[in-house]
Amino acid sequence: MLPTPFYSRMLNIKTLIVFLAFLVMFITLVNTLYASYKVQKNQLIKHTLDTNQAYTQKLAAATDDLINAAYEQLGFAANIIGTNFSDLSVLMQEVERIQYQTRTFNSVTVVSKEGEILAASSNRLNIIGLTLTVGGGPEAIAVKKPLVGTPHLTRAGELLLLISYPIFNAKGEYLGYLGGSLYLKKDSILNELLGEHFHQDGSYIYVVDKNKQLIYHPEQAKVGEFVLDNAAINKVINNESGSIQLTTSNGIEMLAGFSTIKTAGWGVIAQRPLKTTLSSLDELMIQVGYYTLPLVLFTLVLIGLLANYISRPLCRLASIAGKMNSSKAEANLMNIKAWYFEISELKKAMLEGLGLNNNQIIQLKEDAATDPLTGAVNRRSLHLLLKKLEQKNIPISALVIDIDHFKAVNDTFGHALGDKVLIELTQLMQKVSRKQDIVARTGGEEFLLILPSTPSDLAWTIAERLRERVAKMQIEPVGKLTVSIGIATSSKHIKSNEELLKRADLAMYQAKKLGRNRCEVFDTSKKAHIHPN
Ligand code: GH3
Ligand code: MG
Ligand code: MG
Repeated sequence: MLPTPFYSRMLNIKTLIVFLAFLVMFITLVNTLYASYKVQKNQLIKHTLDTNQAYTQKLAAATDDLINAAYEQLGFAANIIGTNFSDLSVLMQEVERIQYQTRTFNSVTVVSKEGEILAASSNRLNIIGLTLTVGGGPEAIAVKKPLVGTPHLTRAGELLLLISYPIFNAKGEYLGYLGGSLYLKKDSILNELLGEHFHQDGSYIYVVDKNKQLIYHPEQAKVGEFVLDNAAINKVINNESGSIQLTTSNGIEMLAGFSTIKTAGWGVIAQRPLKTTLSSLDELMIQVGYYTLPLVLFTLVLIGLLANYISRPLCRLASIAGKMNSSKAEANLMNIKAWYFEISELKKAMLEGLGLNNNQIIQLKEDAATDPLTGAVNRRSLHLLLKKLEQKNIPISALVIDIDHFKAVNDTFGHALGDKVLIELTQLMQKVSRKQDIVARTGGEEFLLILPSTPSDLAWTIAERLRERVAKMQIEPVGKLTVSIGIATSSKHIKSNEELLKRADLAMYQAKKLGRNRCEVFDTSKKAHIHPN
């Protein structure tokens, strides 16, 4: 037997179908998960950017409102002060009123156009008489307009913001300004406004002035720092509003929205770490996986079952193909459910092949068992048949039939016509014999008729009938012929069929001796005798 090729042990159609289906499913699943991951991620990023921007817009508007309100309060008082500039008590009264009525400022001052502090709220009385040379003061005097000054770091380390309003007299002459100060690192109205919006989800806001200095940051220590390399800050100080994904100086990726606070020329930026934004995505994907899992498992089972269902008939065909000469091959083939085209065709072809094979085998067997000229059983096969009968203990009668003077037929009409006579005689013998009888050609013109389970007298009758029919048969152009028949029947004296045949042979010679065209039965006592009839 040939060794089984390794691939037939490793691969079969079922494995291949399952593999293919799994591969397709895996790719589809990964693709779907990846696509939904991508879509969700982009969605989350866009949402965060939009939210942050909208948020900064709101804060910017609120801060603008705060500053505008401060301007209105200061403007109202500045008007009163302008008409009573020489009356220190009015100045002190207005300063105090703003300080305590509005609660917007940490302190309030009136400063002359020379920069001298003329009046201050009661919490800062000690600075009256001082001249301001730094911070928003000189700026306010320079512009003579309502102003949010540049934050100024005091000697005490405080970041001071001045919101000022110019003071004019009735003639419209500039007298100085009314200023409200805010300590940016301390609790101020600005901190309250911005701080209350502090998010709990990892996002935070900060505010820069036009010099990129932080004027608000949730970490107070950072207030006053200059941030020079931040993409959002670079944009917002150019008066742009929008959103951007940026990397901080610490290498943290951020999603930032930014808006300008127009009244102050500041920018407010809300940002959230990308990682924090996307952390919900992992959970989302786990959930997607969780919800997909039952269907995936169901599909896997379905694929397995389908692969089995599709491949089973093919596998069975293959297994039968390997054992086509088994006796069960046909029955097994018939049992295969050919539920799709290819199987049906293969099954048909294999069944046909099997039939062909069987017919060929039958033909070969027949060829091996019969004499090619007459189609009678040949000597070899006769031997086997007799053996079988012997094994089954079936008694027989044997008729040895020899054509009389056949040599003369050959000599007169030629060998071919002699053959024709042999064929016709065989046909006659086959015609007169029963189903269980065996017609064999044992020699040139010598035949044997085996009659199973046939007693001597019946054998005699059959032999006689045959002899008579031969004698009557007209064979063109030979004419009539006769045969001599020797008969022997199984008995306790005869040990084997071989012996029986010898006796039938002897009886046949006896018939020849006694004049031909006659039947003779072998007689045990006389060796051979003529039948009483
Ligand atoms: P008898 O049996 O009556 O004594 O005479 P016979 O002429 O038949 O004698 P014998 O048995 O000796 O002759 C047998 C002849 O059968 C010899 C041969 O020419 C012929 N013969 C044997 N086999 C074949 C065959 O296959 N075809 C043909 N045409 N003739 C055959
Ligand atoms: Mg002979
Ligand atoms: Mg003869």
